[in-house]
Amino acid sequence: MSTHDASPQHQTTATPGGANWHFDTMQTHAGASPAAGHGAHVTPIVASAGFTFDNVDHAASIFSMDTLNSFAYARAGNPTNAVVEQRLAALEGGAGAVLTASGQAATVLALLSIVRSGDHVVASSQIYGGTVGLLNDRFAELGISVSYVDEQNDGDAWRRAARPETRAFIAESISNPLCTVLDTRLVADVAHEIGVPLIVDNTLATPYLSRPLEHGADIVVHSTTKFLAGHGAVIGGAVIDGATFDFGREPEKWPALHTPSSPGEAGLWERFSPLRLAYLLRVRALLRDYGPSASPFNAFLLLLGIETLSLRMRQHVANAREVVAFLSEHPLVAAVHYAELPDSAWRAAAATYLPNGAGSVFSFELHGGIEAGKRFIAALKLFSHIANIGDVRSLAIQPASTTHSPLTESERASVGIPAGLIRLSIGIEDARDLLADLSAALDAAHTDTIARDTRKEAHA
Ligand SMILES: *Cc1c(COP(=O)(O)O)cnc(C)c1O
Repeated sequence: MSTHDASPQHQTTATPGGANWHFDTMQTHAGASPAAGHGAHVTPIVASAGFTFDNVDHAASIFSMDTLNSFAYARAGNPTNAVVEQRLAALEGGAGAVLTASGQAATVLALLSIVRSGDHVVASSQIYGGTVGLLNDRFAELGISVSYVDEQNDGDAWRRAARPETRAFIAESISNPLCTVLDTRLVADVAHEIGVPLIVDNTLATPYLSRPLEHGADIVVHSTTKFLAGHGAVIGGAVIDGATFDFGREPEKWPALHTPSSPGEAGLWERFSPLRLAYLLRVRALLRDYGPSASPFNAFLLLLGIETLSLRMRQHVANAREVVAFLSEHPLVAAVHYAELPDSAWRAAAATYLPNGAGSVFSFELHGGIEAGKRFIAALKLFSHIANIGDVRSLAIQPASTTHSPLTESERASVGIPAGLIRLSIGIEDARDLLADLSAALDAAHTDTIARDTRKEAHA
């Protein structure tokens, strides 16, 4: 055995049993091989910025990207991260994955790998606010334009928004805060008709609730910060490629995949599409060049989180359903936006794409508007008031006074965010304690309303 063979990177090449395992087994084993190297049972944190080469030829082959699963410098890849990449690829049913420092970085790399100045992207208008900012502000600075589709499950709306220079469609499997559900197959079919890949941000669903690649999506991105890591402790992201999109059909549209990196050499597509790695190697090249790499310490915490993903998601969903049922019956609540409800516009899509539940992030509207919402938030004791989602702890926020405060009231109304809207991210606590906290906070918001109304009447 050469030193190279014994190095931990070879833990990542063996995935015993992999393809035939069920979800709960993959989430605890895929990508890791404890017997390799030193026998550590838990995937180690490989805290090394650089990795030794066997010899000069080995070094040269790594630098020309002839060798896969080899490491040179941790900005482009690290053995701890590689285990997480394989595990996420297994859970999503993808060909491979690239871990990034944040969900935001994952979206940036997924798009910039194939979109350049002069190109155009079509996005659902329901996407995460951070993605809207990225597309509207940063991509505009790069000369990349964007169009939004308001009716995200209307195929013609996507068709109308597309242009000859369109290079990607992007949407979310479940969106926040209104819990809208993407008709993935329908939008994927339109994308392919137009000749572009569909990128799905699967953050709120996680691969436990939805696997967009099985429904025609080509690329999945994640903020692993949320349910995947699960504990609200570490930022992270991932790009997972299904390797289903044919970038060879109209090569002139994808210069990044067809231009040789050095003269006389073939492009990434020609060299690596038989291995289903062309797009991912492009993503990894951007990771190396722009540098938003995930720390192996964060990757380790992410891996621990993933090992309990299905258990947590089952509890998140069960609790969310109890809270939804409670709020739907409550007199102070004007509306609940959860895709499983009979009156939800997203119910049919949820039944098709989310058979195990519509997640645990959703919103409800309070009677009494923004002031009642503020009193409600202030009265919560168990729920944390925080601008995050996907934590084991339950979280609440009022979009109108926080995430969506830069918008005017009419702008908020046009994107479906009324002043009294409250977003919840339901955790894995005992549901009885969550209902008690919500009930008390609703009473507090209500009591104050009555008290104020009585004072007003007294003054009148
Ligand atoms: C949080 C989030 C992101 C951004 O991820 P970060 O890890 O915060 O960079 C992207 N998409 C969705 C749906 C998110 O919820």
